[in-house]
Amino acid sequence: MTNKEFADILLPNVKHDWNYYEALYPKRNLEKGAMVTRFAPSPTGFVHMGSLYTSFAALHLAKQTNGICYLRIEDTDGKRTIENGIEGIINDFKNLNISFDEGCGFGGEYGPYIQSERKDIYQAYAKKLIEEDLAYPCFCSSEELNDIRNYQEHKKLRIGYYKKYAKCRDLSKEEAINKVKNGESFIIRFRSQGNFENKIILHDAIKGDIEMPENDIDDVIIKSDGLPTYHFAHVVDDHLMHTTHVTRGDEWISSYPKHHELFKLLNFEEPIYAHIAPITIKEDNTIRKLSKRKDKEAAISYYHKLGIPTEVINLYLATIENYDFEEWYTNNPTLTIDDFKFEFSKMPIGGTLFDMEKLLSIAKIYFSRMKNTKLYERLINYTKEYDEEFYNILINNKDYALNILNIERDIPRPRKDIASLSDVKKEFWYMFNDLFEKNTDSYEEVKACEEDIVINYINNIYDVNANEEEWFNKVKEFACNNGYTSDKKEYKENPDKYIGMVATFCALLRVIICKKNMSPNIYYLLKYLGKEEIIKRINKFYRSI
Ligand code: GLU
Repeated sequence: MTNKEFADILLPNVKHDWNYYEALYPKRNLEKGAMVTRFAPSPTGFVHMGSLYTSFAALHLAKQTNGICYLRIEDTDGKRTIENGIEGIINDFKNLNISFDEGCGFGGEYGPYIQSERKDIYQAYAKKLIEEDLAYPCFCSSEELNDIRNYQEHKKLRIGYYKKYAKCRDLSKEEAINKVKNGESFIIRFRSQGNFENKIILHDAIKGDIEMPENDIDDVIIKSDGLPTYHFAHVVDDHLMHTTHVTRGDEWISSYPKHHELFKLLNFEEPIYAHIAPITIKEDNTIRKLSKRKDKEAAISYYHKLGIPTEVINLYLATIENYDFEEWYTNNPTLTIDDFKFEFSKMPIGGTLFDMEKLLSIAKIYFSRMKNTKLYERLINYTKEYDEEFYNILINNKDYALNILNIERDIPRPRKDIASLSDVKKEFWYMFNDLFEKNTDSYEEVKACEEDIVINYINNIYDVNANEEEWFNKVKEFACNNGYTSDKKEYKENPDKYIGMVATFCALLRVIICKKNMSPNIYYLLKYLGKEEIIKRINKFYRSI
């Protein structure tokens, strides 16, 4: 019996042989240096911080080299696949405005991009290996495999199906065919040519050179359900889809020797690997990977509820991804993330602790650079979903809201007080009369003068049309004529002669208006609130003390 006949019996009904697929998926016509990358999730849950982080590197590097980044769904492990998992991933990405150049849900010439739809392709390559005597059927039951494992554990030997422990490796074709005819179930293993004593080197684009022992394990390539293992599917797919750079979690490093050998046995060119260290979190005293099941911060919906846009998450991920991104972003207010050149060599080698403070500080920069009109639009969308009361106020007072949102915005050093859309209400509630009315906070401490003085200022001196400088000169003059001083030294020497400094008067105005000692420039608050409302608030304040 020839090897080809043997392969046909083991894997019947395979429509095409491997040459067919080589011709079907020709080399991509891309410019020199263009990277072909991919994001290859298993449909085990929603898109989360960790998956975004990994896909982010792949997307960026393809984009900046005019390459291709595609989405491939790795669903060969049916047990882990969740219902609607594939649609979920595609929708999550689409909702995040993330688009792949090709792949599942995005079209393309190198599909199908769902592994369970590629069974025929994997089997064609498994047959190639069987024909070349580089793969064979294994009939070992799980009990037999357990026995081998227990024996190895007991004897403190290396665990695995290798050398003399690879019981089916030396079965003759006839013996194997008899077993098949008897209806015994089997899997296909590749016949390792490796020697554990030899060393191989993984030239990782992020982590540098990593020396490892050569693989000598006859690992499974086709499971009993006819589907491939991750290892085999990875090698076949990344070959046929012409991936140049494999970006994946660093938990796969230990599998590299297998992948390296499979590329060699199949005579495929090996892509460059870039193993990405995870985002981590501290729990009690240990550091572990950020988990989509355990950590609320892993879910993108968590940020959306807070009103933190995807762009901010991307900026944060970029900050982790390349150590010099943050400085670049701070120094280049007019550029976008797409203008930054990402490099594997600037990625962290070990895990990065998730840092919410950092994310919020990036959000503040991001929002500070946003035009008031865009912020208003975002705010409308956000409050429509999460805050009906504020939504109605914003809709009914659009021009006024635009003015408020523009306070100390469009200037060279804008205020950085908003980290999320939900912060806008927290920062500016007092500028909306209805919200001020309802607010039950007590006034922060401030030194008050007679009520008449403040009323007098608002009625006679305060001028909405004055510019900031004129306004301040008038406040100063008024305060100095009414028991305050602008002379620090004089005040220090004779504190009892004065109510306070001019700043004390401004602080009083501020607390009257917003109950707090901190706010944007009081000039703008007075300007937009208008006399009538300010007088109401003065009365309210004096009734409260
Ligand atoms: N499907 C694998 C996972 O979910 C991806 C590994 C890869 O990108 O090759 O971890």
